[in-house]
Amino acid sequence: MTRPNDPLAGQLALVTGGGSGIGLGCARELVRDGASVMLAARNTDRLASAADELRSVAYGGAEVHVQACDVTSESSVAEACAAAQAAGRLTMVVANAGFGTGGPIHLTSLDDWEGIMRTNLTGAFLTIKHSVPILSANGGGSIVAVSSIAGVSTHRFMTPYDVSKAGLEMLIRQTADELGCRNIRANAVRPGLVPTDATEGLMSLDTIVADYMEQMPLGRVGTTEDIGQLVRFLLGPESSWITGTCISIDGGHHLRRGPNIEPAMEMVLGDQRYPAGPA
Ligand code: NAP
Repeated sequence: MTRPNDPLAGQLALVTGGGSGIGLGCARELVRDGASVMLAARNTDRLASAADELRSVAYGGAEVHVQACDVTSESSVAEACAAAQAAGRLTMVVANAGFGTGGPIHLTSLDDWEGIMRTNLTGAFLTIKHSVPILSANGGGSIVAVSSIAGVSTHRFMTPYDVSKAGLEMLIRQTADELGCRNIRANAVRPGLVPTDATEGLMSLDTIVADYMEQMPLGRVGTTEDIGQLVRFLLGPESSWITGTCISIDGGHHLRRGPNIEPAMEMVLGDQRYPAGPA
């Protein structure tokens, strides 16, 4: 059964990192509007339980598929894109897989730096690289990347994460400019603080949460539904003339300053949070 105004029926979305948090929130909005989804991530147990949950809210002919995928591996991403197209008509992509860490620049190891870049930036590049030929062959499509307020506001002690998200936003603008002629749109969303597995540590520190709150005119943290609904809008036909944008969704946090996580750094590292000054 499809609703007469079911705008996503017959289409399929690939959602990287779709087994939890924001990715799952995006998938939930999509299946509710009749789109099929392919959830792609590393933890297959978590993917299976996310899929069960989504099937209970899926509308019409929406199907839920899962695929083990590590976005840092080109062959794995290529397989996930091919599996998505085999499962339906791939027209929507959510490049969401990502993570962050905290630490001062001078103590950030090359491995830590490269690990974040490989997932947040290279992973999104590979997802776009291997999905756009399919979208193009299908007559076009819409890509949404999950950036962060960290892509535009400095977050001291989170440099690799901030830089990866800033790079991701340029990747999206490049994609939008280069592939508009194939009816492929590309946009990004910039969430502020949303409670998920990734922010559990941060959310347990009262002083840091209080600082976040002071920077948010709307005075509340976000929800995965908030983000999912914006991503759903950017994927669907309602936004058909929007491409190359990065939209803040953060309770207004971007109007003020980035969060201050220095108390946590001081707790863990003391004076070593800064390089030593002159003796
Ligand atoms: P989350 O629940 O931890 O989700 C991250 C997802 O990425 C997980 O499902 C994880 O699945 C997947 N992932 C990580 N590395 C991967 C890899 N190499 N290959 C495939 N999948 C991988 O946290 P979240 O908060 O929802 O984060 C989702 C996105 O939102 C991230 O890009 C994050 O930077 C962004 N974001 C979050 C917030 C926030 O406050 N929560 C704010 C701004 C932006 P597996 O471990 O199973 O692979």
